[in-house]
Amino acid sequence: MQLLDHQFIDNRWVPSRGERRLAVMDPYREEAIAEVTAGHPDDVDDAVAAARRALPAWRALSGSQRASYLERFAEGLSRRRDELTRLSSTNNGKVLAEANIDLDDAIACYRYYAGQARELDQRQGRLVELETSGVEARCYHDPVGVVGLITPWNFPLVTSAWKLAPALAAGCTAVLKPSEVTPLPERVLAEIASEIGLPAGVLNLLFGDGAGIGAPLAAHPGIDKISFTGSNRVGEAVMHAAAERSADVSLELGGKSPIIVMEDADPEQAADWVMAGIYFNAGQICSATSRLLVHKAIAESLYSAIGARIDALTLGDPLSEETDMGPLTSVRQREAVQGYLAVAKQEGLTAVRDASHRRLPPQGYFVAPALFRDVPCDSRLWREEIFGPVLCARSVGSEQEAIELANASDFGLAATVISADRERAHRIGRALQAGSVWINSEQLVLPETGWGGFKRSGIGRELGPWGLAAYLAVKHLVEPT
Ligand code: NAD
Repeated sequence: MQLLDHQFIDNRWVPSRGERRLAVMDPYREEAIAEVTAGHPDDVDDAVAAARRALPAWRALSGSQRASYLERFAEGLSRRRDELTRLSSTNNGKVLAEANIDLDDAIACYRYYAGQARELDQRQGRLVELETSGVEARCYHDPVGVVGLITPWNFPLVTSAWKLAPALAAGCTAVLKPSEVTPLPERVLAEIASEIGLPAGVLNLLFGDGAGIGAPLAAHPGIDKISFTGSNRVGEAVMHAAAERSADVSLELGGKSPIIVMEDADPEQAADWVMAGIYFNAGQICSATSRLLVHKAIAESLYSAIGARIDALTLGDPLSEETDMGPLTSVRQREAVQGYLAVAKQEGLTAVRDASHRRLPPQGYFVAPALFRDVPCDSRLWREEIFGPVLCARSVGSEQEAIELANASDFGLAATVISADRERAHRIGRALQAGSVWINSEQLVLPETGWGGFKRSGIGRELGPWGLAAYLAVKHLVEPT
């Protein structure tokens, strides 16, 4: 069994100062495939010191010079496609086709920010248009400094790319802490950094859990900015820690995103989009469109089209090409989802499909894909992020009712609108409180468009130029002419 008890600091693998170790699981085979250190606050001190030493030289490079490293990161990931997709699949439980999509997204992200780093050179020192005469002002964009990057387990390589690529493009140096649940694919980032000759200390990668690495990193006085993706509970703790020293913070948190299907939609086509929005990655997607609001005129036909598609899903070994949906990533996540299914039973919710409709594979942390209809708005299943393959549906009588119910949520990460009338779909989309609204499509995430949420779904934006701006501090040089 692989033992990951070293940390990547200053381009060297050094033993973690922590004694505690955690099992890394294969959620399909239900067996430990590696052991990873839980980390130690002293590891954080060492990594932050390395990142601080590396900062002056790294930020002094031009954007174009930094871009060439990002391109080499993209090439390094491409070269190791087979190994990486198998690792993601084995460690996370996602089916191979989805692991390939993830890798494509990560590669595209490094390439995109290589372009942004080059553009940054063009923007530096631009004259600001002023109303006042006799004064000249130039605008510069400085890196915010040493950044702490904390990521979850549902999209390893992707969530880290969304942080690491813009941070390095901006001229920041980084301490990256991937989830302790899925450290295997992320480990490769350190190997690529060494292969491509990234200067020592620019990327430091620390394995460990919240107590060993996450909390000490968020609280570290040598960290200028924390960018966190994960749960609201931990995100709020990270924000508290950053507030103690007025440090900059970005948060990508949970969601409970709506999908609206109007009466002019084709139920068969709509069912495909509904499926893609909730059962991809076994529902463990922050932007899962987990609340279905369907016009009552087509509700029955949509429910039966979704039910038929659920029945056709093959659950099994994520490495098999036959499989449509793998297990949940951890036994803990399965228990969390099962807890919601127990609540559904207590509340007497109506299941169009649930565990009673299918036999699960004999091994693996599986949960049967479920669809509940006529779910009351005060149900916990309607209000809370479940983070599993559970779709809750309600019918609505009008566009206005759909918008009101869609927006009646603590979250606002994403949304989908399905209608044959494009103008109507845009009108609804504009009225929704969400960072990304997909029109007649699902989960279209592009490097050029921003990612992030309204309300409790987070603070700030990743991807696009906004993702780069999150790692830059604006500065002006002003002088009389
Ligand atoms: P989590 O909050 O439990 O863990 C996220 C990361 O924080 C992990 O690396 C973990 O080790 C670390 N951590 C734990 N305790 C910490 C502490 N006290 N201080 C600092 N770091 C700590 O989340 P998870 O279970 O890994 O991921 C699922 C959650 O992530 C869901 O809520 C999902 O919606 C969210 N998510 C959001 C986005 C987005 O873009 N908005 C993307 C993916 C996942």
